[in-house]
Amino acid sequence: MTSMPPAPRFSFPQWVIKGVTDDCTTCDCCGRSNLKRTVALMPLDADGNEEGEVSYYGTGCAAAALRRKITDVANTASAACNESLGLDGWAYEVISVFGPFEFATAMEQGDVWWSRNPHCWEQSPGTYIAELLAKARAQLADTTLGPARPHTVGDFRPYLVVADVRDGSVYFARAVPTEPDRAREMQRAVIRDARWSGRRDLITFSTVYALSEDGARQVAGTRHHIALRQAARTKP
Ligand SMILES: [Zn+2]
Repeated sequence: MTSMPPAPRFSFPQWVIKGVTDDCTTCDCCGRSNLKRTVALMPLDADGNEEGEVSYYGTGCAAAALRRKITDVANTASAACNESLGLDGWAYEVISVFGPFEFATAMEQGDVWWSRNPHCWEQSPGTYIAELLAKARAQLADTTLGPARPHTVGDFRPYLVVADVRDGSVYFARAVPTEPDRAREMQRAVIRDARWSGRRDLITFSTVYALSEDGARQVAGTRHHIALRQAARTKP
């Protein structure tokens, strides 16, 4: 067993592992090409903040640069990838729900914001929405681990959502196929599904536009709560 020398405490640059990608197949350290994958390394400044451009190292070179074991580097990289995937999912939901309200009136922004965050009163809803959208778009536009993901309202796709009319809880959401005949076939099958055949009066079928299936679920649930707020306002 070989033991590695301890890393010098104040050696720079320090790196943080951002993930692993098969988009970049050449090692920035030694120049080896046709690698299966590389590890994305972000340099850190003296205060530990991310600074500068990401480098892509083969796993062996990354392990040597970080003075860590290859398996340790590989595990950290795959955990970082999972974290990034999770953030992508969060960002799809944020843009699905709030994207269509970016240029809405203050009252509409209030309805969507307080439908989801009934206890969040510190700032105006418009400010919160703008901040969330900026963060979500930055996440999806980030190309460290691969090409940018869809992140505009123009990228929305239709989803068929089955929900409970009483509390808006979503039973089912699925992307509607883009080919018209297949879309009709899928919609008919979902509407006829035995799961809700006995309680059709308690079910709504709706088509919502979103960036992901979870985003579509969130949009449908939010719509229900917005309708409740509006109904409460117009009550005589
Ligand atoms: Zn290398």
